[in-house]
Amino acid sequence: MAAHRRRSEPVGPEAVETRSLHALGSSVTIVSEMPTLSPLGIVGVGQIARMTQQAALKLGIQPRLLVEGLDDSAAQAAADRVIAHPDAVAGLVEECGVVTVEHERVDIGLLQALEDAGHCIRPGIKTIRAAFDKIHQRRILLNRSLPVPVFAELNSADDLIDFATVFGWPVVIKSVRAGAAADRNVWIVESRAEGLRVMSEQAGRPLMAENFQPIVTELVVILARRPGGNIRVYPVVESIQKDGQRHVMRSPASVGREIANEARAMASSIAEHLDAVGVLAVEFFLTNDGLIVNEIAARPHNAGHMFIEGSPTSQFENHVRAVLDLPLGPTWATHSAIVTRNVIGGIDRVDPAQNLADALAVEGVSVHLYGKMAAPGRKLGHVTAVGDDLDQVDEMAMRAEAALLGRRPSW
Ligand code: ADP
Repeated sequence: MAAHRRRSEPVGPEAVETRSLHALGSSVTIVSEMPTLSPLGIVGVGQIARMTQQAALKLGIQPRLLVEGLDDSAAQAAADRVIAHPDAVAGLVEECGVVTVEHERVDIGLLQALEDAGHCIRPGIKTIRAAFDKIHQRRILLNRSLPVPVFAELNSADDLIDFATVFGWPVVIKSVRAGAAADRNVWIVESRAEGLRVMSEQAGRPLMAENFQPIVTELVVILARRPGGNIRVYPVVESIQKDGQRHVMRSPASVGREIANEARAMASSIAEHLDAVGVLAVEFFLTNDGLIVNEIAARPHNAGHMFIEGSPTSQFENHVRAVLDLPLGPTWATHSAIVTRNVIGGIDRVDPAQNLADALAVEGVSVHLYGKMAAPGRKLGHVTAVGDDLDQVDEMAMRAEAALLGRRPSW
């Protein structure tokens, strides 16, 4: 862990460590710089941390990353990185003015202790606790009379049977906390046997049950909030899942203005209540009975990638601005149609980087690759197309996605 240093102390090139070595009878003096205080620390390994870092660099801010391996998507792009277990955040906070957290595998108790000790962790522990723990999150939303699925903790097989007896099958089983990136967190089970099998396979992970929602479509609201409450909300994104994974994101969403405004208002009120700082994403199900809040993520979100090209300020830049308490940038859509498609690895393990030229030949599509090893179901990149017509833009994005995966477009 780094030497304890308060954020207000001046540190920089003048902080020099001098050590003497006695080699072959001669005295050699090694002069090495102590790590300088970085304005921004990022705990994260994936594409979210990678793109947040790129947004910080655009503003001339060199963040320090806490990554777990040299091959991590975020590590590949980081000039200033510490490779360690996420618990090394205790050291990172000593070296950074502000620390923001990309993934959910950080110990909340540790973050709480660091915040209590006066370190600046954003979005803040109240928000992190709500985002990391789905049961706690649901209770907060219920207390605010926001619509959420019916839910219950699953501590035993009896809990599952009791839940299904009242609410029927299918039952949605969820992990209360997200696992590693490759871990599955949601199972829609149709029967007692299937549910008990999931529970035994996931033994050791806290689980919850939720009633199945007849979803018409899924919406995501992304917003950025500064300390003190200034909020900017992006246009509502419609999210289309494939094989249980987010695949296509479209804006504008195919919902009326009233629903879109209601979703944006609910997301803003959640951010206010949690006193969130940074980007907050609120996922909704739209059912025939209206909006249901599915989940809160306290970081830039997959559905917001489209605003790199589709808005004057990307969600990543606004996250950096918000956590550093800098003025937020505008969040309106710069085009009347924006589509992002995730590039998800198939069983053939095709590496999209091999097909980059073919994808770039699809004019007007912006290609983002995350530098990850291809594996089935893994998000390897995304493509975004902008324009005037949603179907046309979607077709362009689909062609680039298919090119990257070495496939023919599937229309
Ligand atoms: P994750 O955090 O792994 O993305 P989510 O809670 O967002 O998990 O669920 C993933 C997907 O599973 C959702 O986008 C939705 O399509 C489906 N899903 C989740 N909960 C329910 C539910 N209660 N009813 C119906 N489908 C659900």
